[in-house]
Amino acid sequence: MNTIPRLHAGDRLCIATHNAGKLREFRELFEPFGLQLVSAGELGLPEPEETGTTFAENARTKAHAAARGANMLALSDDSGLCVDALGGDPGVYTADWAGIPRDFNHAMKRVEDALQAAGANTPGQRGASFNATLCLAHPDGRDMLYVGKCEGTLVWPPRGDQGHGYDPMFMPDGYDITFGEMAAEAKHNWSPGEQGLSHRARAFGQFVENQIDHG
Ligand code: IMP
Repeated sequence: MNTIPRLHAGDRLCIATHNAGKLREFRELFEPFGLQLVSAGELGLPEPEETGTTFAENARTKAHAAARGANMLALSDDSGLCVDALGGDPGVYTADWAGIPRDFNHAMKRVEDALQAAGANTPGQRGASFNATLCLAHPDGRDMLYVGKCEGTLVWPPRGDQGHGYDPMFMPDGYDITFGEMAAEAKHNWSPGEQGLSHRARAFGQFVENQIDHG
């Protein structure tokens, strides 16, 4: 049961992330609702260690750490790329495949090398999905989860310089361009009452329906 009060225009919400790409997408998605967003990174909160083996566990870890640290409602996103031919890898380790400091050209090459090693050459063998789990946490420990998924195909070489992370190698089903070649609005393809395109936009649609009062 959802016991977390709904949000209204003007309310403050902490976005529990230190990832600039995700924060930018959330600011775009939240634009119609007039909330006051501040990120965990902007507040100088420490980045909690993500030791979970599921998106939900890691989303909870991040949201609760930010909600406690900021003493306000916090929304996290744990997301990743699950590649069919790799048994769902890199999954919750999607960020780790980019190394430290993060290098997504290296990360995409690592995925491509693994696909080649698995003999996945045709589009039909190169299916993948982006997955996002959002967690809204209250400082008192209550939380709610919202999940979104976007299926597609991995292309090589990477195409486009929009978006972030693995966007240039992911072509969503029904499109002939990658997320890296799409404008932000096309990647979200979301408005109140619509399903959205990206995994994050789809999870966000559920979040809005259940947690935001809007006109
Ligand atoms: P985490 O949720 O912070 O553990 O990291 C998620 C990882 O998945 C990051 O490396 C992101 O770059 C990648 N990722 C998540 N969503 C997207 C997306 O929409 N496009 C490209 N990469 C993404």
